[in-house]
Amino acid sequence: MLPFRVDVPRVSEAARDKARRLLEARLGPSKVLTSRDACERFARDESEAEGVIPDAVVLATSADDVSATLAVALDAEVPVTPRAGGTGRSGGAVPVAGGIVLATIGMGSIKGIDREEGVAIVEPGVVLGDLHDAVEREGWFYAPDPNSLKSCALGGNVAENSGGPRAVKYGVTRDYVLGLDAVLVGGEPLSFGRRTRKGVTGYDTTSLLVGSEGTLAVFTEVTVKLIPKPESIATLLATFSNVGDAATAGQSLTASRLLPRCIELMDGQTLEALRQAGNAIDPSAGSLLLVELDGPLAEVESGAQRVADLCERAGALEVLTAHQSAQRDRLWAARREMSHAVRKLSKHKLAQDVVVPRQRVVELLELVSTLFAKARRALSHVRARGRRHGARQLPLG
Ligand SMILES: Cc1cc2nc3c(=O)[nH]c(=O)nc-3n(C[C@H](O)[C@H](O)[C@H](O)COP(=O)(O)OP(=O)(O)OC[C@H]3O[C@@H](n4cnc5c(N)ncnc54)[C@H](O)[C@@H]3O)c2cc1C
Repeated sequence: MLPFRVDVPRVSEAARDKARRLLEARLGPSKVLTSRDACERFARDESEAEGVIPDAVVLATSADDVSATLAVALDAEVPVTPRAGGTGRSGGAVPVAGGIVLATIGMGSIKGIDREEGVAIVEPGVVLGDLHDAVEREGWFYAPDPNSLKSCALGGNVAENSGGPRAVKYGVTRDYVLGLDAVLVGGEPLSFGRRTRKGVTGYDTTSLLVGSEGTLAVFTEVTVKLIPKPESIATLLATFSNVGDAATAGQSLTASRLLPRCIELMDGQTLEALRQAGNAIDPSAGSLLLVELDGPLAEVESGAQRVADLCERAGALEVLTAHQSAQRDRLWAARREMSHAVRKLSKHKLAQDVVVPRQRVVELLELVSTLFAKARRALSHVRARGRRHGARQLPLG
């Protein structure tokens, strides 16, 4: 998403007044925000997209609230933007033409965890980290783990088909959604998919809705598949002098049939940003690989040894291994800081999801490095010209 405002014409003042009036009549004033101050924070998410302050925000607490809102929107002919945790990076929750923001974060109940069937039924406002904790207490596991898991919610995860570090082994949200209750434009509620693990008949409409970014329907209930909680986990952090060695280690890991649950690589520029943000990272490290394995204890222990050997063979400067939760958290700390540390470098940060075949990752990193050098050269050229003409320093880093 680029840092720009999409130029969509606004609906008439009369249509907006009608929508506000109808919403307050159908939902009651306590669930409808209309003041500019209260609506302002719903004009943005974690992307760079610039929104228009919505004319009304509905704080939905039930599927009936969602139906009523969508019926009013159609009647008054104003746009609706669904929203959950507001952590999206592609601007999906940003109202580009004002209208109504339909906030589903207040629909936050875990309706049930079916231990026999291995499924959980949740409302769209359930925070992902809370679902993880709840199912893990029961010995089950819900694998999708976007790094925003403490503040994003299931409705947003489904609408974005979110992945996360564990996707390398366990896949993304679409692989876990069995069924959805949703409300269509105009307010009609419909159920899609199933609440059982097996289901073979009919069109796969659930998959169509997953990843629809709020454009097809508003989810009011999500049924997800659970898998048994892994018996043990090991996290390994390996540092390398350059990104090529780390990428080679990552590639040999994926070819080794070890199937780690996460492989995360950070390049030299990222490590520098982390150092500048106060993280203690070995000054000789020019890249870092974070690998996590899970499964039966004996398998994890022997797998961790093989990962360490592979990293050392690829030229690792140091390999640290942790099995206990607190030590593992320490190894993840820099990775969790990464997004904020990089953001501090510049006024704008554009995040891109790039997908390449595994055997071409090294090539991708080389291309990124070439582009970085080119951008830096171009920037210093622009700055030098600016100084010659007495312009202010550009804000980009
Ligand atoms: C620090 C950070 C780390 C992140 N890491 C990852 C990552 O590792 N992997 C990843 O995939 N993403 C990541 N993200 C992006 C974001 O967190 C995910 O896309 C997340 O799933 C969005 O959830 P949300 O609840 O915040 O949704 P929102 O931002 O509120 O909405 C996202 C989209 O969902 C739609 N929507 C929301 N609720 C509903 C509903 N009830 N019905 C229908 N549509 C709805 C919205 O209209 C919008 O299009 C990260 C973001 C941050 C800030």
